[in-house]
Amino acid sequence: MWLPSVPGLANEAMTMEKNLRRNMNRWLLLAGFLVFFVLAHSVERFGALWYFSLLAVSSLFIFYFSLAGDLLQIAIVLWVSSFSLLWHWGATWDAWFLAFLAGLLALYGGGFYERFEWRKKISSFEKRKKNSEEALEVLKHRVSEKEDSLRGISKQLEDILRLYELADKLNECLSFEGLAAVLKERMLIHIGLWKAVLLVFASEGIPPSMVRRIIVYDEGNAEESRGEEDLSLFEKKIVQEFSGKKENFCFPEEKDLPAGLSGGGFVFPFWIFPLVVQRRVIALLLVEGGRQEDIPKFQVITSELALHVKKIRLYETVKELSIVDGLTRVFVRRHFLERFEEELKRAIRHNFKLAVLMLDIDHFKRYNDNFGHLVGDVTLRQVAQVIRSTVRRVDIVSRYGGEEFAIVLPETDRTGAVEVAERIRSAVAKKRFKVYDEVTKVTVSIGVASFPEDLGTDSAGAFQSDFILELLRKADHAVYQAKEEGRNRVVGFDKEKYRAQ
Ligand code: GH3
Ligand code: MG
Ligand code: MG
Repeated sequence: MWLPSVPGLANEAMTMEKNLRRNMNRWLLLAGFLVFFVLAHSVERFGALWYFSLLAVSSLFIFYFSLAGDLLQIAIVLWVSSFSLLWHWGATWDAWFLAFLAGLLALYGGGFYERFEWRKKISSFEKRKKNSEEALEVLKHRVSEKEDSLRGISKQLEDILRLYELADKLNECLSFEGLAAVLKERMLIHIGLWKAVLLVFASEGIPPSMVRRIIVYDEGNAEESRGEEDLSLFEKKIVQEFSGKKENFCFPEEKDLPAGLSGGGFVFPFWIFPLVVQRRVIALLLVEGGRQEDIPKFQVITSELALHVKKIRLYETVKELSIVDGLTRVFVRRHFLERFEEELKRAIRHNFKLAVLMLDIDHFKRYNDNFGHLVGDVTLRQVAQVIRSTVRRVDIVSRYGGEEFAIVLPETDRTGAVEVAERIRSAVAKKRFKVYDEVTKVTVSIGVASFPEDLGTDSAGAFQSDFILELLRKADHAVYQAKEEGRNRVVGFDKEKYRAQ
């Protein structure tokens, strides 16, 4: 880990080391001179040498006094020089004794002074060491704080990058399923939560008329996948209560939920984030079992999501307008023919059966004459509703002509198809059509053609585009037969009667 140096302390240590080394040199120098001095004395006949040594000691004395300033060393020099003078002059014992005492005192004095100075230095160093250690601790603390904040910043940066990538990917989504997948993979997988459900409103009333339910994330995966529009009772209540509110709602525990929502089996904390575009709530994001600190992330996600939800909704509307008939809400002929082709190819490939129904409303011209075209239109829409609610989701219902419907029933044989047609016929016949102030009744005639029987023997091979028209023509012929036989009935295609015409 990186640590800053303690300012001044290293320099201080270096200076001390230098001083110690210089002091030792001085002691060695002094010892050298003393040896030289004693040697000079012991050889007394070299008088000149003695004087020279005295001169040397004096200059040494001056040198130490002026430069070195080391009291102990000065005392030694003084002592030794005074002894040498005494010796040279042949002093009395008293003088010797006094000189000895003075030297001793000087030595002790110097020693004590040195000790006092060193103690002062040591205590000042200890103090500074303590201060430095404290400063170091403070620094360490600051460094770890900085490291923490760095980690936080890099995490935030990661999240921002992820949000940026998310925005980028969401741009490409043109379906709610794609949107859910991107949201899960790019964002929610990195955030701890239990479940996230998006409730998208088809229209913006309060409460909205139709709501699509998209499971965006489900950690538990415990839920059976339900139809997009199948909201649970509690979700319906949520839509009713929160579809007009633009603020976020956080419910930490079950007891915090508004009356009527408890017992919904939600995982807590439970949050509701509205997706708002142009001051209108267009969807709600329900999040279960999230972490408190992630609330801001969800706020960013929902603000980002709102526009994409609006875009997808618009795209789906446009797409739907081009393939769905505006009056009856079933497929238009062009799209029906495309889907029919796909299904027929699949049937040929896998050797599946398939049936096509042609349905024509009986005496509809007369009906219009009696009740007017407006009533006729609403009736048409209601007949389409009856058909849609009678067949399976996989069956393809279309408005083939004015008041004619064509229906493809994949993987259905002739008997099955006749049964379905009969169900439709009787459902329409039983229904009381309440239109404006009128209560009316209509009947339908249905013709059934089936694959492969009604296509002939060569249909087992590859797909040919005229297969479709041939099947439709044959179903239409069966309708004609039904009309012939008195209407309000189901007739299967009859080869013999077809040939006879
Ligand atoms: P049939 O039992 O033989 O089928 O008698 P029909 O009167 O229904 O005869 P046909 O099927 O030939 O007539 C179709 C009529 O359906 C003509 C038209 O008045 C009516 N029709 C077609 N499209 C619409 C529509 O979009 N709205 C309304 N109100 N009527 C339509
Ligand atoms: Mg007709
Ligand atoms: Mg008709």
